[in-house]
Amino acid sequence: MPDEHPRVAVIGAGIGGLTVAGALTARGFPVQVYEQASAFSRIGAGIQQSANAVKVLRELGLEPTLRARGFVPASFVHRAAGTGEVTNDIPLGARAEGRYGAPYLALHRGDLHDVLLAAVPAGAIHRGRRLVGLEQPGDGVELAFADGSRARADVVVGADGVHSLVRETLFGPHELRFSGKAGYRATLPASALGGERLDDNTKWWGPDRHLIVYYLTAARDEVYAMGTVPEPDFDLESWSAKGDVDVFCAAFADFHPTVRTLLGSVPLVHKWALADRDPLPRWSDGDVVVMGDAAHPMMPHMGQGAAMAVEDAAVLVRCLEAAAGDWSGALRRFEETRRARTSEMQAISAGNSFARTGKDAVDFVYGYDAWTTPLAGAPAPTTTSTPGGNDR
Ligand SMILES: Cc1cc2nc3c(=O)[nH]c(=O)nc-3n(C[C@H](O)[C@H](O)[C@H](O)COP(=O)(O)OP(=O)(O)OC[C@H]3O[C@@H](n4cnc5c(N)ncnc54)[C@H](O)[C@@H]3O)c2cc1C
Repeated sequence: MPDEHPRVAVIGAGIGGLTVAGALTARGFPVQVYEQASAFSRIGAGIQQSANAVKVLRELGLEPTLRARGFVPASFVHRAAGTGEVTNDIPLGARAEGRYGAPYLALHRGDLHDVLLAAVPAGAIHRGRRLVGLEQPGDGVELAFADGSRARADVVVGADGVHSLVRETLFGPHELRFSGKAGYRATLPASALGGERLDDNTKWWGPDRHLIVYYLTAARDEVYAMGTVPEPDFDLESWSAKGDVDVFCAAFADFHPTVRTLLGSVPLVHKWALADRDPLPRWSDGDVVVMGDAAHPMMPHMGQGAAMAVEDAAVLVRCLEAAAGDWSGALRRFEETRRARTSEMQAISAGNSFARTGKDAVDFVYGYDAWTTPLAGAPAPTTTSTPGGNDR
């Protein structure tokens, strides 16, 4: 009979891996995290963490630091590319906090990662350890790393991102589906805008492209712009690949003057080929499971990819806590609890129409609470604490 708490190995110290490791640590599970990178760098990118994600991170004690490092937009404005006409304006700030039970935050991706690192004991994070193989000989899981080292665990969580080796080992190759769109990302000091006034958080909608712009800090001194542009021949999926600033600006030349002023101030741009996959039929095999982008990569258009990884973390920990020694059963319960929601997010994200107009409901996204959503096989609660929360 295994111990009450299995020894858990998490592969990948990204957003999902650190969140699940932090949540496991907080609940007394012995956990080790293995990350291929030898150091973490502050990649130029913003990230939005909506209330559904912040509710998870709050339980790890991270909310005060996240608020201090990030920005709480008052609303999320959707505008027509050329005229700037407002097509939707979603209240955020205190109004969203009251409605969903947690703030909606925008912050630098590097700052989010930094805050998450603090939730895991430093000695439990092993950098420079690239997983190259895993086996389940019948008693636990054996891990092999590129540096020749090995490790054992009772449960292995593959939080190793879109190119997951854990997923490939369990289920074989599963090609990425490139969208034919490139994502251009830039961060810049607000002072570079020469006094141009921006909304707190905007999505500018063109016919075949869009631009998302928001502040990254409470002081509004750093701005993030992420533009999606058709580029059918581009398929380099990398955080560090650079783009051409002139090409980025030209792609939005017929957008509103505010956009042109903003892009005209961009010093450097990175570029990413946007890709996703169809939902996987299974996420676990025996005592090994995948989560986050390893399980359900999606287009970034709803800003929910990392939020889904963060939600996964809470549900996975709850399933392990309730497992009574049946770890593989807990992993199956986890995937059964999560698959419908993440598949829906993958589909909506691929369609790229979410919240463009006020007709779209957003409550079911932001109102979800991963700490209270019913686990598969458990009776549904009679009430929900937040609007639209956990109802689909
Ligand atoms: C342009 C863009 C904008 C986005 N904006 C948002 C947003 O605003 N809000 C949001 O919620 N989401 C957003 N996303 C999605 C979000 O970035 C991802 O969904 C999220 O990073 C997934 O987290 P993860 O932990 O699953 O994977 P990752 O964060 O990719 O982490 C995987 C980790 O595993 C490590 N690893 C990989 N292979 C191995 C191995 N073999 N051995 C050891 N370690 C390994 C990697 O080095 C990495 O550290 C955006 C995505 C893009 C591309």
